[in-house]
Amino acid sequence: MTFKDLALEAPILKALEKQGYTQPTPIQEQAIPILLKGDDLLGVAQTGTGKTAAFGIPILNHLSKDPTAGKGKRKIKALVVTPTRELAIQIAENFTDYSQFTNLKNTVIFGGVKQAQQVNSLRSGVDILIATPGRLLDLMSQGYISFKDLKYVVLDEADQMLDMGFIHDVKKIIAKLPPKRQSLFFSATMPKTIVELSQKMLGDFQRVTIKPEQATAERVEQGVYFVNKGNKPKLLVHLLEQRSNDSVLVFSRTKHGANKIVKKLDQAGIRSAAIHGNKSQNMRQKALGDFKDGKLKVLIATDIAARGIDVDELSLVINFDLPNVSETYVHRIGRTGRASASGIALSFCMAEERPYLKDIEKLIKQQVPRLGDHPFMEDHDAIEEASVKKAGKPRPNNRNRPSNKNRNNRNRYRN
Ligand code: AMP
Repeated sequence: MTFKDLALEAPILKALEKQGYTQPTPIQEQAIPILLKGDDLLGVAQTGTGKTAAFGIPILNHLSKDPTAGKGKRKIKALVVTPTRELAIQIAENFTDYSQFTNLKNTVIFGGVKQAQQVNSLRSGVDILIATPGRLLDLMSQGYISFKDLKYVVLDEADQMLDMGFIHDVKKIIAKLPPKRQSLFFSATMPKTIVELSQKMLGDFQRVTIKPEQATAERVEQGVYFVNKGNKPKLLVHLLEQRSNDSVLVFSRTKHGANKIVKKLDQAGIRSAAIHGNKSQNMRQKALGDFKDGKLKVLIATDIAARGIDVDELSLVINFDLPNVSETYVHRIGRTGRASASGIALSFCMAEERPYLKDIEKLIKQQVPRLGDHPFMEDHDAIEEASVKKAGKPRPNNRNRPSNKNRNNRNRYRN
């Protein structure tokens, strides 16, 4: 299937062509026809699957045919609510790209910065509003936003909004929307609260599910190094020195951990920056901008801050810590191997993280290849011993030795 088969308006097709998109991704192939028909949609999919275009293209297609949109004093016709500022900015950039040959205008609002500029652009009129929940409610309560003409609403990364404590804000926002509208709901996972919210928000809906393993494991080469805690920074330096030309995104479970990694890299002469919730919006934007432009090769991020990162040339993701929620692993490795590219994701696993690795492998239904040798293996036996003792199993003699298959895997990651 090509985008031409989807009977899209000429200006939208032209923009997709300019973006270099030739074929719809699986979620686009399934969701776009449903949305063009006007049905509500529940999309179970995460970032990296092409879901922004899956909802953006049909909304823009509808609006480009709407005689009341794109001219005069614009009224908000479409709203996208998303949990993080980075993601909001990313979505707005995508809308701008896809609508560049139409008259449609979007704006993005998020917290952590002064509101004046956002209020000004709302005052001047927009067709599409992309927002994080807190700032949106805030500006709604100040009377700067009217949803009287709203026709389309997208709730993006709903499970993340739940994790970040936004669920009440989201419910308040939904309550203020006109009942006659097309509603789209996206979530990577479907915990009970999210199922309930989707039922409340959607009318008769169709469901599209893109499984994590479909979305990532096929495209991304993965590998895991067993390494003790103290040696993780050394192993990171070692890997980065081997790949000094690549853009590398490093994940840390905590903000404090992310700062510590930056310091360690600095001591080794490797320039990097951290992005997380304790950094100011300006610092986050600057680091992200430099990373996207290739001026900064190494970015350290926590999971929440990384949500909106979309870098074309990102060839390597390193999980300095393994996440305790398996779905997060899928989100992380989905940063590389984006819709059209392939990438590599390497993980560091210390003894205490073994159970996380087990859960991840269960979710992605495959074993992450063990990358046996690295220069910091002196405590490796002790790590194995500890994890085996914990599991209460006898330790086979050759446990550390990678199989031939894994040895080959290991070589693939050598420069
Ligand atoms: P998303 O899941 O929306 O974050 O999109 C992931 C990445 O895939 C973004 O960099 C998009 O620009 C890109 N993308 C989306 N749809 C397509 C497509 N049909 N062909 C190629 N790249 C795409």
